[in-house]
Amino acid sequence: MKIFCVGRNYADHAKELGNDVDLKEPIIFLKPKSALLGKNVPFHYPSFTNELHYECEIVLRICKNGRYIQETDAYKYYDALSTGIDFTARDLQKQLKAKGLPWEKSKAFDDSAAIGKWLAFSPNKKLQNPFQFSLKKNNKIVQQGNTADMIFSFDKIIANISIYFSVNIGDIIFTGTPAGVGECLVGDVLEAFIEQEKMLGITIK
Ligand code: MG
Repeated sequence: MKIFCVGRNYADHAKELGNDVDLKEPIIFLKPKSALLGKNVPFHYPSFTNELHYECEIVLRICKNGRYIQETDAYKYYDALSTGIDFTARDLQKQLKAKGLPWEKSKAFDDSAAIGKWLAFSPNKKLQNPFQFSLKKNNKIVQQGNTADMIFSFDKIIANISIYFSVNIGDIIFTGTPAGVGECLVGDVLEAFIEQEKMLGITIK
């Protein structure tokens, strides 16, 4: 399986990191399978960073193999949604970006992709419409997003990815984070929600 991630898909987040929001196509990067955090296990603060950030995102699950997928057909290729945390070693990412180097060490390390439970997606159901999601840190809301604010829709993301990569059953896509990213410390509890439903809970050890 592959873990695709979208960078800068919410203008307010791109601005908070000082990045350009005038994008012609989505920024895509990948994490390896080893980046998946196991279910119901804590996240261990990595030794190589002093600035670990959470990025709460909506995650799609791919249910059909394809390449060169048209945007109008893309809804057939995912069957479930969740929230995820794209853990980022922000200090390391800044250093790598400054040197123009690939940022995998800061983004694709072991356990850097946490995903919650899946909600079945049906094109006829409510979740096709824009919906809210949020992240609480230690019981306080730190990130709130609405899928209406995505620069590239789920369907546009899938169409674009499939120009370059085959998408396969079981692949997942992190669709970008809204504003409010920030630091997490040992002992913090992160909980992600879609509307009012709790999707994910993680403790940083
Ligand atoms: Mg992200």
